[in-house]
Amino acid sequence: MTNDTIINEQQIEGILKKQNILEAALIKEILAKALELKGLSLEDVAALMCADNQDLLSELFQTAKVIKEKIYGKRLVIFAPLYVSNQCSNNCLYCAFRTGNKNLLRRALSQEEIARETRYLIDQGHRRVLLVAGENYTQGNIEYILESIATIYATQHETGKICRINTNIASMTVENFRQLKAASIGTYQLFQETYHRATYKRMHTAGKKSDYDWHLTAMDRAMAAGIDDVGLGALLGLADWRFELLALMQHAEHLSKKFGIGPHTISVPRLEPASGSEIANSPPNPVSDLDFCKFVAILRLAVPYTGIILSTRESIAIRRKAFALGISQISAGSRTNPGGYVDDTDEFTSSQFSLGDHRSLEEVIGDIVALGYMPSFCTACYRLGRTGDTFMGLAKSGEIKDRCLPNAIITFREYLRNYATQETRELGEKLIAEELERLGEEQRSLVAKMSEQQESGVKEVYL
Ligand code: SAM
Ligand code: SF4
Repeated sequence: MTNDTIINEQQIEGILKKQNILEAALIKEILAKALELKGLSLEDVAALMCADNQDLLSELFQTAKVIKEKIYGKRLVIFAPLYVSNQCSNNCLYCAFRTGNKNLLRRALSQEEIARETRYLIDQGHRRVLLVAGENYTQGNIEYILESIATIYATQHETGKICRINTNIASMTVENFRQLKAASIGTYQLFQETYHRATYKRMHTAGKKSDYDWHLTAMDRAMAAGIDDVGLGALLGLADWRFELLALMQHAEHLSKKFGIGPHTISVPRLEPASGSEIANSPPNPVSDLDFCKFVAILRLAVPYTGIILSTRESIAIRRKAFALGISQISAGSRTNPGGYVDDTDEFTSSQFSLGDHRSLEEVIGDIVALGYMPSFCTACYRLGRTGDTFMGLAKSGEIKDRCLPNAIITFREYLRNYATQETRELGEKLIAEELERLGEEQRSLVAKMSEQQESGVKEVYL
């Protein structure tokens, strides 16, 4: 398979050239169409990218907010990255882990160290982690990753355990993807970084990842191996964000056509300063805060049922803004240096990039609750096998929402009781009471039943 069958650069360039001047009426028509929740075409997306006057932008953001609330309500799913290794044989010029960065303190955590990091995250209240690693596993195989996954799942601590592990690790063979699936991962995430072939070539100068097609076709191999939840992303700041957005749409469309199911999530990482990286410290195509918000909002309209993930790369202010524009999952309390949760002394010498939001999970939870969002620690879908097609079917029919809110309330309550400060607990219980008021009779009694089970000591109550 070549790049051209998945990403058609000529088509993207052609669309971008055509879209210089657009009438406001057309943009309003597209916004109205988006509210039908059926997604948008490439041309529609390109037209929305031209919205630049204040009125149209406000309408775009308002539409994204409406769609987000229709599908996800006030929920925000919470996770933390768990960096197990910063050893890497690739040379991605924007990343501190690149092989050419001789100043980085390298470290691959032992299984005991991984268990320690996991215990720390459990004790903060986390239930969902994203396992992250550079591409240099011992003897070039994925045994290390498989062992790490097993260690995380096996680590039980006082009040709980990690129930879902997603991964953000290198592209691999179908056989390796089968092993990864057998290890019970949730979503396999891999960011294309840039879909623009020439830019990709300039940015990746050594190692397996320098092969654009090998990287691009990873999701085809993952899905062929039976992993039906995959997460796409582009690293914003490398090429024109408009190009990346259209290419992401093409990638999603390709998966949808070939496997009958599009991506489960799309991440929106924006370049952050990284040790010794000129590219990261001075991005070739910087994305302004406004364009970043446009990117998130348009994505929400274009793929309404695909989760959008926002990390702690972004500042507190941008995170607050973006929640309303369609973000459905966020990381919180993150460290990007292996071992950084238990011991943060190497943060500046072994991290992947600098964080925009350095707050603890407790602080983030307090903040989002004050903004009216309901944190969710739910992992029910994954545990009940509601993945891929099954999940999307339920999401599109609206059925999943009826289970998500009760599950969010119950898991959030568990968090509040076991981990929160008195102040956050009071704020959280108030938010839960308000949400319960809004629920219908049937759902309210369902939550009451689940609460009873929870009170009687049953762990992990979910629908
Ligand atoms: N090594 C695997 C890979 O490259 O796909 C996965 C892990 S990598 C540590 C995770 C992601 O971090 C990359 O895909 C890239 O998008 C992002 N990243 C790298 N350098 C970054 C930077 N300076 N700022 C923000 N994100 C960065
Ligand atoms: Fe290695 Fe991933 Fe960083 Fe590239 S982005 S240098 S592959 S860790």
